[in-house]
Amino acid sequence: MLNFILFGPPGAGKGTQSEKLIEKYQLVHISTGDLFRAHIKNQTALGQKVSALIADGQLVPDGITIDMLEEEVDKNPNAKGFIFDGFPRTIPQAEALDEFLESKGSSIAGVIALDVKQDELTKRVAQRQKETGRVDDQADKIQKRIDEYFNKIIHVLPYYAAQKKLTKIDGFGNIDEIFESLCAVIDKY
Ligand code: ADP
Repeated sequence: MLNFILFGPPGAGKGTQSEKLIEKYQLVHISTGDLFRAHIKNQTALGQKVSALIADGQLVPDGITIDMLEEEVDKNPNAKGFIFDGFPRTIPQAEALDEFLESKGSSIAGVIALDVKQDELTKRVAQRQKETGRVDDQADKIQKRIDEYFNKIIHVLPYYAAQKKLTKIDGFGNIDEIFESLCAVIDKY
């Protein structure tokens, strides 16, 4: 299995690029944000548990997130590989993912981090909020999530840098050009 993590702040373009990547490489895309939103929309027990946290721009506790992620991986036993988007966001999540994949004789091949400056992120997410109405994209919540990324979530990157798995890519500019840069990294594996 060829597994990649797409890493980056809110609005970095992880969802957009993931869509293009799964089409080209036939990988299974797992976005924990999308999964949580589906649970909330379908009013599942999990959705009810996490909806207030997510609306407030806070992280969901590790245990809940890890269980949901592992369940989703197990739903795809024939996958050629996965693109993890929005996961891991903490070191315990990264460790749990390594352990889980190892138990399946697999591992993370590479981590690609999309680099985008804060003012560009704010602009992009404000636009997304207009289009989708996501409550956690509202101005005060998005600032909280961007701060959370740069103050906390970003500290997951050294974990992968230490394993020599990290590549950073400039996420500013044309969607197709960014996609080319991503493919150039993936094609090396
Ligand atoms: P974005 O890509 O815009 O940052 P996501 O759609 O990935 O946002 O996630 C939306 C929300 O879902 C997060 O703000 C958080 O509340 C929750 N969430 C998603 N993934 C995780 C995770 N790995 N750990 C904890 N919470 C998460």
